[in-house]
Amino acid sequence: MRPANLRVVDLSFTKEEESFREEVRSWLDDNLPAEWRHRGVGGYREDDDEDLQRRWQRMLHEAGWLKLGWPKEAGGRGATPVMQAIYQEEMARAGAPMILGRLGVTLLAPTLLGHGTQWQQDEYIDRILSGDLVFCQGFSEPDAGSDLAGLRTRAERKDGKWVLNGQKTWSSGAHYADKSFLLARTSTDGEAHKGIGFFLVDMHQPGVEVRRIRQMTGGGEFSEIF
Ligand SMILES: Cc1cc2nc3c(=O)[nH]c(=O)nc-3n(C[C@H](O)[C@H](O)[C@H](O)COP(=O)(O)OP(=O)(O)OC[C@H]3O[C@@H](n4cnc5c(N)ncnc54)[C@H](O)[C@@H]3O)c2cc1C
Repeated sequence: MRPANLRVVDLSFTKEEESFREEVRSWLDDNLPAEWRHRGVGGYREDDDEDLQRRWQRMLHEAGWLKLGWPKEAGGRGATPVMQAIYQEEMARAGAPMILGRLGVTLLAPTLLGHGTQWQQDEYIDRILSGDLVFCQGFSEPDAGSDLAGLRTRAERKDGKWVLNGQKTWSSGAHYADKSFLLARTSTDGEAHKGIGFFLVDMHQPGVEVRRIRQMTGGGEFSEIF
C-alpha cells in the first residue's frame, strides 16, 4: 500500500498538449518534403547541407515555430517547456533537418531579446531567425572549456574601437557564419569571472582567420578562429 504522505505525479500529457502534438505533426506532414527527412548516416552534416538547412530554417521562421517559447509580447507563442519538448520530439520523429543558424536562434536571439539594446534587437533578431544572418559561438578556447573564466582572448580599446586578439576553438559552423558572438577578456584586474565582454564580431573582416577541424568521423562542423 502507498504511504499516505506520498503523492502520485501524473506524467501524462494534457488534452491541450496532445492537440499541440497533432498540430506540429500535421504541419510537418504538409511542409517537410519526404526527401529532406532522415538523410544519411548520422543525420545532417553542415558541410553538405547548408542550403537545405537555410531553407528549412526560413520555413520554420515563417510559420512562427522559431519563436515557440518566446513571450507573446515579442511575437512568440509563449509555449510551455512541455510544448517545446513535444515540438522537439516531433521534429526528431519526422527526421527533420537541423536549422543552419541554430546557435544564433537558440542562444543569441533570446539573449538580445532579454538584454540587448533596442538597436541591437531591431538590427539582428529578425535576420537571425530568418537565416539571413548566421552567427557562430566563440566561447571555448584551447585552455578554456568548462571553466570559461580561463579564457585568454583579449579585447582592448584603441582609438574608440575594440581590438580583439586570441584563439577560439570548437566553434560550430564558423566556416559559414557571417558573425560570431564571442567572449573576450576586457580586464585582468579582480576576479577571473569578471572583466569578460560579450562581442558581436564580423567574421569576414580582415584579421579573422577560420581553420576547419576535420574530425576522425569525417565530419567538419567545428573550426578554430584566430
Ligand atoms: C557538439 C559540440 C558543439 C560545440 N560547439 C561549440 C561552439 O559552437 N562554440 C564554442 O565556443 N564551443 C563549442 N563546443 C565546445 C564545448 O562548449 C566545450 O567542449 C566545453 O566547453 C567543454 O570544454 P572542453 O572540451 O575543453 O573540456 P574540459 O573543460 O577540458 O573538460 C574535460 C573534462 O573535465 C571535466 N572538468 C573540467 N573542469 C572541471 C573542474 N573544475 N572540476 C571537475 N571536473 C572538471 C569536465 O566535466 C569534462 O569531463 C562544442 C562542443 C560540442 C561537443
